[in-house]
Amino acid sequence: MKTADRIQKLPPYLFAEIDKKIAEAKAKGVDVISLGIGDPDQPTPDNVVKRMQYETAQPENHRYPSYEGLPAFREAVADWYSRRFGVELDPDKEVVSLIGSKEGIAHISLCYVNPGDINLVPDPGYPVYAIGTLFAGGTSYKMPLLKENGFLPDLSAIPTEVARKAKLLFINYPNNPTGAVATQEFFAELVRFAREYDIVVCHDAAYTEIGYDGYKAPSFLQTPGAKDVGIEFHSLSKTYNMTGWRIGWAAGNAEVIEALGRIKTNIDSGIFEAIQKAGIEALQSDDTHIKKMIELYTHRRNLTIEALTKLGWQIKPPKATIYVWAPVPPGYRSSEFAAMVLEKTGVVVTPGLGYGDYGEGYFRISLTTPTERLEEAFRRWEEAGITYA
Ligand SMILES: *Cc1c(COP(=O)(O)O)cnc(C)c1O
Repeated sequence: MKTADRIQKLPPYLFAEIDKKIAEAKAKGVDVISLGIGDPDQPTPDNVVKRMQYETAQPENHRYPSYEGLPAFREAVADWYSRRFGVELDPDKEVVSLIGSKEGIAHISLCYVNPGDINLVPDPGYPVYAIGTLFAGGTSYKMPLLKENGFLPDLSAIPTEVARKAKLLFINYPNNPTGAVATQEFFAELVRFAREYDIVVCHDAAYTEIGYDGYKAPSFLQTPGAKDVGIEFHSLSKTYNMTGWRIGWAAGNAEVIEALGRIKTNIDSGIFEAIQKAGIEALQSDDTHIKKMIELYTHRRNLTIEALTKLGWQIKPPKATIYVWAPVPPGYRSSEFAAMVLEKTGVVVTPGLGYGDYGEGYFRISLTTPTERLEEAFRRWEEAGITYA
């Protein structure tokens, strides 16, 4: 049975080697600490769980949901955007619900990309932008995210003939994996660029609610003209510890939202309505949960930076996200460093190359591990003499 080219063209799974080593370590009885996965360890807030328990028992929620999402869910999204960002959205035309934002990110290329078309994709970046492009028959043009540019893409470095052929441009701020944040000026420049070349901007905003030291990330849709050129993907996954629930949305340009909705109508049948109602509960909660969450991640971020500093690293604490992006010590490739750390300490970090060629030279630590395990991980590094040298 010969699989299609798109399967064969999938990039090699770069974490396969490290997964194998994790399995081997566990088999040998090593107490493995994973700092590799961006999946909150804390539970979904109580009010959301209770609402879900109630809604699952209501027969009206047991049938096929509406394709584009419950009007009440889309209204809750619009209200949240208005309160949080001062962005006004028409819940009927400018919001579509998604089975997690990954689903929409994977499908958006089917709306705009013909075989041979180009999408502009950040490198390093969340792998789904390039994979969705590939599945639609398109090609990714990688926009390097370099430290000297604050991990923002340099739009002026994109060749004109590439920009002319480009259909979609993906960005993600606050950024996974670098922890970088975008400026309003960058978003404004992006609107001008997208207008000039008729490109749809797809901003992945999964981490806007996780900011430190008072930092509150903007929405791309706050930028004047943004709604003319693009959409924003968002999700309850990281904000409300709801990664397993599979609920998110896209908001912004009505034409793009309509196109995405049309593709989805032909693929899936929407989100379980009980989950959408629990999602409304989350979006309408006060900020008690978010405050506690930020307090916890701030503590973990600070202890991580302090530990790394003590071991010889010089890194600025990230302003947002659940990640610390750090350079591997000189002389190592990122996969070698990750393998060495696992072997010597039983601690898993993610090699930067897993996020693209420009991720080489870095590794990522996720702050979603219980605090005492995070402390234990760095205690082991110190004992094993793992330093930046
Ligand atoms: C976690 C994450 C998402 C969210 O995915 P969901 O499908 O909504 O759970 C999207 N983009 C990035 C960059 C992420 O890290």
